[in-house]
Amino acid sequence: MSTKGMLLMNPGPIAFESEVLSAFAHEGISHVDPAFIEVFGQCLEMMRHVFLAQDGQPLIVAGSGTLGWDMVGANLLEQGDQVLVINTGYFGDSFGACLERYGANVTHLRAPVGSRPSIAELEKALEAPYKLITITHVDTSTGVLSNAADYAATIRKAQPDALIVLDGVCSVGGEELRMKAWDLDVVLTGSQKCIGVPAGLSLLMIRPRALHAFEKIGGSSGSYYCDWAQWLPIMKNYEARRPSYFATPAVNHFYALKKGFEILLADGGMEKRFEEQRNASAAIKAAITSLGCTFVPAEGCAANTLTCVRYPKGVTGPDFLPKVTARGVSLAGGLHKDIKMEYFRIGHMGQSTRIMDHAIRTVNAIEGAFAECGHPVQSGKAAGIVKSFLKATLPLTKPSTCSSGLFGVPLKCHLWSIATIALAFGAGVLVASRRK
Ligand SMILES: *Cc1c(COP(=O)(O)O)cnc(C)c1O
Repeated sequence: MSTKGMLLMNPGPIAFESEVLSAFAHEGISHVDPAFIEVFGQCLEMMRHVFLAQDGQPLIVAGSGTLGWDMVGANLLEQGDQVLVINTGYFGDSFGACLERYGANVTHLRAPVGSRPSIAELEKALEAPYKLITITHVDTSTGVLSNAADYAATIRKAQPDALIVLDGVCSVGGEELRMKAWDLDVVLTGSQKCIGVPAGLSLLMIRPRALHAFEKIGGSSGSYYCDWAQWLPIMKNYEARRPSYFATPAVNHFYALKKGFEILLADGGMEKRFEEQRNASAAIKAAITSLGCTFVPAEGCAANTLTCVRYPKGVTGPDFLPKVTARGVSLAGGLHKDIKMEYFRIGHMGQSTRIMDHAIRTVNAIEGAFAECGHPVQSGKAAGIVKSFLKATLPLTKPSTCSSGLFGVPLKCHLWSIATIALAFGAGVLVASRRK
């Protein structure tokens, strides 16, 4: 089956902006060409603004989000170090398993599926000392949002020197995140979710406490490619616009990343992105509720970047999901092992938070598929809710740019030209008639 034209509403990879894809299609260029060095340098500079971490050391390496976990393990941990994972789902389990490979003694602080540990539970857990504590900002398997700011403040109070590492793979670029203000030490993500760039880049921001901890250990263990001692000089050189080489950077990805960061930082910047993310999420969640569904996350701890929806009675994934696909929308099935067959996931990140059309097509496809599965729905109601939530804040589709339209001029411009000519003609007729 062809997937061209399919609207990708997965929790990563997401539907990418056409400008990002055009930037990706750059012709071959050397990784030490001054033009590329400039692009790399700008990406590093913009990354601090996206993470809100002016004192951070950015690190961008070819790989996926998971590589960030290995980087943390290889560069910050030694055999027998105590690690606490604040666990809100599948990704907490996996991050913990990864850190065990580097010799960590991992303790999981868990909550029931769809919920998150309370501050009181965290305070209790912190009675034991930890070298490093991880938070999954948004666990993509449950749709649970951690209250990262409160967790971090609680940790700082109890254990001022503990390293706080935030897995932001499903949050950075969409969910409110203030790395410096919240005093997080490492935040890691991948390119294909809220950053809006094809999969293939691992992005880490490392703040001074973590850099000092790395220096104190005196180098990374067990991995050559992950070694920060290799990568940090490369990042510093590129930012100083000097050629440098350890391993070839993903050259074309950087062109796409520069565009992706520019989009995130344009038009009101991160504060505006946080707001758009919350609005799009509220609209979709209200529309889904109107279809008679409930959610996996408990009240008050749902993420804004994705929505985890429990199937209504009588509807199953194998029946429902292909019917959504047939309507041109791609959604994801369940991921958490305990409830895998009980829910599906809608990602709404990147451009899907800046135009209304994606949310409308998505809820229409879900509504149609529900109806076909025999679940009663009121046709058009969900889309109506999306419109009423977003009509004051969002355009239906992306405003046309000057790359489309007749002779490369957008249709809007043609309409203006025609209107101007008509107006001038009208004025001429008026003047001529007055003269008579
Ligand atoms: C997607 C995701 C990952 C894994 O990232 P990859 O790019 O697939 O390696 C890790 N953590 C969270 C929270 C994620 O959503």
